[in-house]
Amino acid sequence: MITKNENKYFAKALLKWYKKNKRDLPWRRTKDPYKIWVSEIILQQTRIDQGINYYLNFIEKFPNIESLAKANDEDVLKIWEGLGYYNRAMNMLHSARQVVKGNKKIPNTYNELIKLKGIGEYTAAAISSICFEEKKAVVDGNVYRVLSRVFNIKTPINTAIGKKKYSDIANKLISNKNFGDYNQAIMDFGSIQCTKHEPKCTNCIFINSCLGFKFNTIDKRPLKNKIILAKKKRILNYFMINSHSKYIFIQKRKKGIWKNLFEFPLYESKQIINEKIIKEKKILNNIFNQSDMIGISLSKKTTHILSHQNLKIFFWEILAKKIKNTNDILKINKTEITKYPFPKPIKIYLNEILS
Ligand code: SF4
Repeated sequence: MITKNENKYFAKALLKWYKKNKRDLPWRRTKDPYKIWVSEIILQQTRIDQGINYYLNFIEKFPNIESLAKANDEDVLKIWEGLGYYNRAMNMLHSARQVVKGNKKIPNTYNELIKLKGIGEYTAAAISSICFEEKKAVVDGNVYRVLSRVFNIKTPINTAIGKKKYSDIANKLISNKNFGDYNQAIMDFGSIQCTKHEPKCTNCIFINSCLGFKFNTIDKRPLKNKIILAKKKRILNYFMINSHSKYIFIQKRKKGIWKNLFEFPLYESKQIINEKIIKEKKILNNIFNQSDMIGISLSKKTTHILSHQNLKIFFWEILAKKIKNTNDILKINKTEITKYPFPKPIKIYLNEILS
């Protein structure tokens, strides 16, 4: 139970701390809801130092919601390349088009914002409090950590009860004014002061009231129920025409985590395959319309870990007299490769072979 006094003290102390320690970040210099929306979606999947470049590039290319709404999928994915969770970019594009088609204004309340595809509780609270001074507390990983430690909360954060409890506490603690600043203050406090590892307790504003510090439970907060998810193992074989060729064959992924990104012609196998199997099974003939292969060699093997999949990736280099592509496969000049968005492991491989 959070008392009125605790509430007042907590918010006041945090706002004071923020005034001194606030980081000068590009999205802190604006209250434009479009820019705050972009920054919040980017920051959900990357650290601030990496997120800054993605944010600046995104805003340079799509400075407002109208320019984003007019963009095609590939241009947006190209800017998002390497960030992962590509559906977040696609949801933002979808919602931008929806807003521009309607009254052209980004909604100014939590309840309306949350109706947009890709805007969840956290993002709606961030935009509505920062841009429109609505009294809505954000709850993200930093907030879970700070609250769980200061109040020594034992309820696991990945349960429905836990989520509700933390949201209720956060909304009780929020200041009586400057809601946007308060939300940014608690998130900054979590990422600068009350860090996951080695929090800076000795010079902390809450050292005398922090229950986690008092009961020595900091390392155990926030508590999470252990959920062991079996990761799907996949073997992806990508085929690339020999690296000296002027051209390259690529195709657009139609579904899955990399939907709408580009990749080399793909053969997914249950087992690891080798040159002999590729020839015997005529794998290339099943991918291309016609191929007259002279040789094949393994160019690189790598692994890529996703939240729910472990990928083993093999890049094969083909030497062929003749290759006829199907409608799905694009034959492009290598000089054009930078126009297309690729998943991270393919982008890394392309940088290696084309540099
Ligand atoms: S005393 Fe330590 S654990 Fe408690 S809020 Fe401060 S930094 Fe976090």
